[in-house]
This record gives sequence, C-alpha cells and structure tokens, in this order.
Amino acid sequence: MTTVRTREEWQAQADALVVHAQAFIDGRYVDAADGARVACISPIDGRVLAQVADCSAADVERAVVAARRAFDAGHWSRAAPVQRKKILLRLADLVEQHADELALLESLDMGKPVRDARQGDLPGAVRCLRWTAEAIDKVYGEIAPTAPDTLGLVSREPVGVVAAIVPWNFPLLMACWKIAPALAAGNSLILKPSERSPLSAIRLAALVAEAGIPDGVFNVLPGDGMRAGEPLALHMDVDALAFTGSTAVGRRLLQCAGLSNLKRTWLECGGKSPNLVFADAPDLDKAAQAAATGIFYSQGEVCTAASRLLVQRSIQDEFVTRVLAHARRMQPGHPFDPDAPMGALVDAAHAEHVLAHINRGQAEGARLLLGGKRVEVVAGGSYVQPTVFDEVDAGHAIAREEIFGPVLAVLGFDHEADALRLANDSSYGLAAGLWTRDLGRAHRVARQLRAGSVWVNQWDGGDMTAPFGGYKQSGIGRDKSLHAFDKYTEIKATWIHLGE
Ligand code: NAD
Repeated sequence: MTTVRTREEWQAQADALVVHAQAFIDGRYVDAADGARVACISPIDGRVLAQVADCSAADVERAVVAARRAFDAGHWSRAAPVQRKKILLRLADLVEQHADELALLESLDMGKPVRDARQGDLPGAVRCLRWTAEAIDKVYGEIAPTAPDTLGLVSREPVGVVAAIVPWNFPLLMACWKIAPALAAGNSLILKPSERSPLSAIRLAALVAEAGIPDGVFNVLPGDGMRAGEPLALHMDVDALAFTGSTAVGRRLLQCAGLSNLKRTWLECGGKSPNLVFADAPDLDKAAQAAATGIFYSQGEVCTAASRLLVQRSIQDEFVTRVLAHARRMQPGHPFDPDAPMGALVDAAHAEHVLAHINRGQAEGARLLLGGKRVEVVAGGSYVQPTVFDEVDAGHAIAREEIFGPVLAVLGFDHEADALRLANDSSYGLAAGLWTRDLGRAHRVARQLRAGSVWVNQWDGGDMTAPFGGYKQSGIGRDKSLHAFDKYTEIKATWIHLGE
C-alpha cells in the first residue's frame, strides 16, 4: 500500500535528499580512478542533481578483479541457496523500506511521474527480488536416464563474473531483473547503469551491503557506454553480459563478445509493438483507453510501448476518435504532481530526437491528429505532447523505427491476414496485442504474431511468473521467471562410473 503524496510533500523530500554519486567497488563507495565526474542533470527543470563518478577502463579492471576474487572465495558463490535467499529477501525488505527515496531518485533522474515510479517500478523491483530469492532453493538438478553402472548428474552452476548493462527508462527495475537472478544463482555482478540515470543504482549499492552481500559480489560502475560499457563488454574475465537497451548497442555487444572471450551475451532490446484492434473487440472504449495508455504511459519511453495501432478499417474513424479523447487527457505535467499523466522525457537531446521523428512523419505524409510539440511545463525541462498520427504507411519511418517517445502511428487493415502481415512486418518482435471477442481468432492470431509477449484484450500483462523477452532483433534470452536463471548458470554433466 502506498499513500498518495502531494507535489509539495515530494518536493520537500527532494530538497532534503542526499544524493550518492560515487562508484561502488569491492564493498566501498569510491571515486573514478582518474577522478572524472560528470554532471547528472534532471530533465524536470534542467537542474544539476550531482557530479557523478565517470568510470572508465581502470575502474572496470578494479571491479572485475574484485568480483572474481569474491567469486573464487566462495562466500557467496558456494553459499547454500537458502542462505543467499535469506540475504536477498533482506535486500527486498530494504528496497521496500526506501521505496519513496528510490522512486524520487528515478523521477528526478529521468523525469517519469514519481507516482509511476512509486506505484510501478518500486513494487516491481521488490517483487522481482522476493520472487527470485524464493525460487532459488527450489531449483533442482536432474539425474540422467543412464545405464545402471553409471550415474549421470545434470547440475546448474553460477557462470562467474556477470556484467549487467542497463538503460534509463526503468533504471532500478531493469537492474533488478538482472541482479536478482544473477546473485541468487551465486554469481558476482558488475552493474553499469545508464549515464542518463545512475542515481538509484548507486543508492542500491548501500542497501546491498546492508543486506549482507559480501564485498566484491556486487559493484556499480556509473559511466557512459564507451568509457565504462565497452571495456566491460570486451573484458576477458567477464563471463556473461546481460544487457537491456537499444538494438544498435546490442548488436555492438555481440561483436565485443566475439572480439574477446565469447562471453555469454544476453540482449533485451528495442521494440515497435503492434496493437491489433478488430471490429469485434469486446469493449471499444476499454481498447481505446488501453491504446492510449499503452503508448503514453511513462512518456512512451517503454520498450513494449504500443507504438503501432492497427485498426480494422470498418471501425477506424470511430475508434481513433475514442483514442484521441483519452490521449488528450494525457498531457505532460510536473513529475511530482500526483495527477500528472506523463512527466518529462529523459533529457533535452531525447526530446529533440522525438521531435525529429514527428517532423519526419509529417514530411513523409502521415496526418498529425494530435500534439507534435514541445511544451514548457517547467522552465528548463524536456516535455513533449502526446502525439497521434493516422494515414501512416507501413513504409514510413514512424511505422518502422523505435521512437521511444509519446508518438502513436495508426494504420488501417481490412482483414485478419492483412493485420498479421502488417504486425509482423518489423525487425522487432518484443510484444503485440490483439482485441477480439472471437476465441478462435484470439488463439489463431496470437500463435502467428512473432513476438515474445502477446496480450489478448489487454495491453501489457505479465508478472514475475512469466518470462519476458523478444523475438527477432528485440533480443536474445528471457528475463523474469525460472527461465531467467538460464542466463546466469552453466549446465554441467557429471558422469560417475558405479562399477567395481
Ligand atoms: P542504449 O542502448 O543507448 O543504452 C543502454 C545501455 O548501454 C546504457 O547503459 C549505455 O551506457 C550502454 N552502452 C551504450 N553504448 C555502449 C557500448 N558501445 N558498449 C557498452 N555499453 C554501451 O539504450 P537506452 O537509450 O538507455 O534505452 C532505450 C532502449 O532500451 C530502447 O531501445 C528500449 O526499447 C530498450 N529497452 C528494452 C527493454 C527490454 O526488456 N527489451 C527494456 C527497457 C528498454
């Protein structure tokens, strides 16, 4: 249960906040080896929040050495699963106790409404830590069906030193999707948060230490992709790399694995998710509201944003009118305002990137129905209106490229095969939705959608019990659920001869 707090209350807590800004290596907060720092700017109002350590290859080296030493020492890697579970449950409790502070850091750092962070990101992170901790002492090995003179054991072991490189849109939640299964399985971990949102990861490090995770098992290296990210990806002593971010960077990380030690490289990348609304949708208004929140929630900075709306032509005009009614109510507001439907985009450069896509949509001939402009909610902030285009052609850039902002592209279709062709005509395959009251169609279309998550008569279902990840260029591997352990464990076959 979270109590709704006023903007003034959040502001008072923000004013009193002590922002941690150092790297965390081998159980201690430290400056970058070369002393470099970089200003961390809030997109709410352009204010400098902190001068954050800007890590580089020397820090990567320090962290990898510490992580390897901790792994080899075995205090964590060889601890009984029930022991790791106990400590991770303590960490979950600590994150829950500090949920207001962590939510505030997310909002200040990357601009989302603090309400969304407090009611979505934080409970999600706590649930991820708890669910995964609870699972780890219930994962069994196997005994192979061998001949009687042999015992064949199939067991899971931690991979070793894991690097996690995460994005800025759900900074703590995306980190926890990696941290929880990696640590539960016994690995040492080096977390590189996005340079656009490092603060919650840095704060988390103190909670990890307080929970009792041994020194060196968990490290945080704030820094950008080239200075801190690539040295991790190229390091010969990092055994696995778990990434969430753009497809372009994911592609580069696969190259880095090939150029170094073939580290296991798991990717959760971008999306351009289609939302298919058939004329027989059970509740058009519910579908319209979901279409609007599916793209405008969290300013559209969501990998599974419902950025392509495919509507059956017989209801297209009526349906788009309903979507517009909901979209108009989703204007950006101050992120501390409990009623703000959207907050600020992550920074000024990203706002420019989104506006460039909007201009291109207009130039290519799509019809702008709503929004399309920057707004000054707070001076110095980065706010863009909810934007809707129709008459979008499948070849337009706004129908093909991930914008990662509040921009909806509406395309019409005539029949089921047409809808499927449009939906699957993408290099991405992260998520898809469909709305119909026809059970046969629901199953038929769900089976043929090339996406890692499919939602029927809802948008964005799922919790820790189900895996999450993408088909095609949306990624490799799955986060959440027991499938997440596949990323962080090696499978060993041990053969024991039982004969005399
Ligand atoms: P990004 O790819 O620009 O950056 C992600 C991380 O990679 C950051 O920490 C960055 O510093 C690091 N990085 C950048 N270049 C690097 C390099 N050369 N070597 C090593 N690390 C490097 O992505 P972003 O802008 O932070 O996040 C938005 C993207 O994340 C979108 O494409 C979105 O769809 C995707 N995303 C995917 C999921 C998912 O689960 N599939 C979830 C959230 C976000």
